[in-house]
Amino acid sequence: MAEQQSITDLGFDPDALRAKYREERDKRIRADGNEQYFEVKGDFSHYVDDPYVESRIERQPLTDHVDVIVVGGGFGGLLTGARITEAGVGSIRIIEKGGDFGGTWYWNRYPGAACDVESYVYLPLCEELGFVPKEKYTHAPEILAHSRAIGEKFNLYEHACFQTEVEGMQWSEADQHWTVRTNRGDAMTANFVCMANGPLNRPKLPGIEGIDGYKGHTFHTSRWDYDYTGGGPAGGLSILAEKRVGVIGTGATVIQCVPHLARSAKELYVFQRTPSSVDVRANRPTDPEWAASLKPGWQQARMDNFNTLVSGGFADEDLVNDGWTEIIRNLASMVNFRGQALSPAEVAEKMELADFQKMEQIRSRAEQLVNDPDTAEALKPYYRQFCKRPCFNDEYLPAFNQPNVHLVDTQGRGIDKLTANGIVANGEEVELDCIIFATGFEVGTDYTRRSGYDLIGRDGLSLKAKWADGMRTLHGLQTRGFPNCFIVQSGQSGFTVSFPHAMNEQAKHIAYILGECAKAKAKVVEVTAEGEQAWVEEIIRMSRFSESYQSACTPGYYNNEGKPSLSSKQNGSYGAGPTKFFRLIRAWREEGSMQGLELR
Ligand code: NDP
Repeated sequence: MAEQQSITDLGFDPDALRAKYREERDKRIRADGNEQYFEVKGDFSHYVDDPYVESRIERQPLTDHVDVIVVGGGFGGLLTGARITEAGVGSIRIIEKGGDFGGTWYWNRYPGAACDVESYVYLPLCEELGFVPKEKYTHAPEILAHSRAIGEKFNLYEHACFQTEVEGMQWSEADQHWTVRTNRGDAMTANFVCMANGPLNRPKLPGIEGIDGYKGHTFHTSRWDYDYTGGGPAGGLSILAEKRVGVIGTGATVIQCVPHLARSAKELYVFQRTPSSVDVRANRPTDPEWAASLKPGWQQARMDNFNTLVSGGFADEDLVNDGWTEIIRNLASMVNFRGQALSPAEVAEKMELADFQKMEQIRSRAEQLVNDPDTAEALKPYYRQFCKRPCFNDEYLPAFNQPNVHLVDTQGRGIDKLTANGIVANGEEVELDCIIFATGFEVGTDYTRRSGYDLIGRDGLSLKAKWADGMRTLHGLQTRGFPNCFIVQSGQSGFTVSFPHAMNEQAKHIAYILGECAKAKAKVVEVTAEGEQAWVEEIIRMSRFSESYQSACTPGYYNNEGKPSLSSKQNGSYGAGPTKFFRLIRAWREEGSMQGLELR
């Protein structure tokens, strides 16, 4: 009776939901895990061609020397370049595959693309550039323009090499420098190298039957073909008015571009394997009065406030006050850690209930916004909120009320195959003029595979070999055997919901270390064996990696496609959270002895 009462109070039955979550996960689980996708190369390399450059830059191979080479011209590379420039420690060359700065925002120009974290927090260096974005969640063209403005402001165009891909780099102990080789025949050298390759930089395609036999038009969302669709990032895809379009995938990208495809295409078929959770967006233009009232230090304060709240901490006010901060506020208020002595099991139970409650709300949103009950039911996500990236959009779900929009729910199985004329799913063929792959990016494969090259450090050691059994670093940034090399990524470092926040802290840390090397007239900085070992042990000890949580999740790139492994503990980010990590590296800098590093 007591239990009945609690179910009535809650409005749902936790046991029934647990069973439903397991059932949905089991439908989706597959033995091949990450192997279901294949590396985009060879016959498929046109999927990663750059559709945005007007012409290829022709230049002679470079064999010159700069102080610092940064690989990647996205926010990671731009922030690293900016902070090193501010520290005044020498010449910087950014090497970038695309035709300009921007990284993710250079490539992802699909209609509707926008940042899903508040732009006042997400866009880096706003104060340094005296810039306030136009909207609370600003759209991709403004983010791309801001990337270029950072490049201009910090003079990063001067030595930059665009349309250039690194193919390998090698440390010379004799010369105490790195030689960087590229697909343009370059063999340039630098005292220091920084890898800022980005977390989601390699588009992936599903390894399904017939993928090479389809006769219609195809492209990946990160290389949008506006010549084929017409229109631009703001929509108006007029050429699709006569086309039957299929889009494979229902992740964060599709949530943003479906409303535009729905408006323009003659017929739109959305092939779904797992639905996303889609909450309210409520985007709005920036209030000019508010923008004019901002005081110096506003952006860092807002970033810190957001980061504290979304990593489970407490703050007196919630400056951003959106879906992200609400998720964590709900979880925290349910548990009300302050003043209560709860056992870890009680905390876990309360967190699960808060999660059920939130996801019930998300599921009821599908019911309210989608007229056809079967379609609404198929669009409901049955898993815990952080099994996948939470999405926010006000137009995605209502798009399924349009008569030209069809959800093809594959019940967790995915599409069966491609034929010459279209896609087969649930045993039925849908004939299509165009197939858009919204199948995401490589995650969970080797760091060197995702970067597209290996590094050869001291004594011929390769990074691939060194990290074969798990990442080994100090603070996630440096690894022994690879002197004067910094790696901007989230493993063994601070992970933030707003990615550029962590990159900014890493960039400041790199700039500090380079500054200290210059002061000490040291040519080489390298992690000590003890420093590295101690950090790896600390990462494992602090790990919050919960195998049971991860295993219970529907498969996806958050849990290595349903195969969480113990090396995830070692490769995970700092378990006490990003705020403590940033405090820790700041204290390390203030202490001043460069503990765990040797300078020579
Ligand atoms: P995702 O990896 O999130 O989604 C890929 C989609 O393809 C999933 O729905 C997946 O299904 C589906 N899929 C893969 N293989 C098949 C198949 N064989 N049959 C049917 N469906 C298949 O990629 P996205 O590009 O959507 O997003 C990647 C990340 O980029 C996001 O998680 C987010 O971090 C970031 N992003 C950020 C934005 C921002 O504003 N900051 C905006 C857009 C993206 P399943 O779920 O079952 O695996």
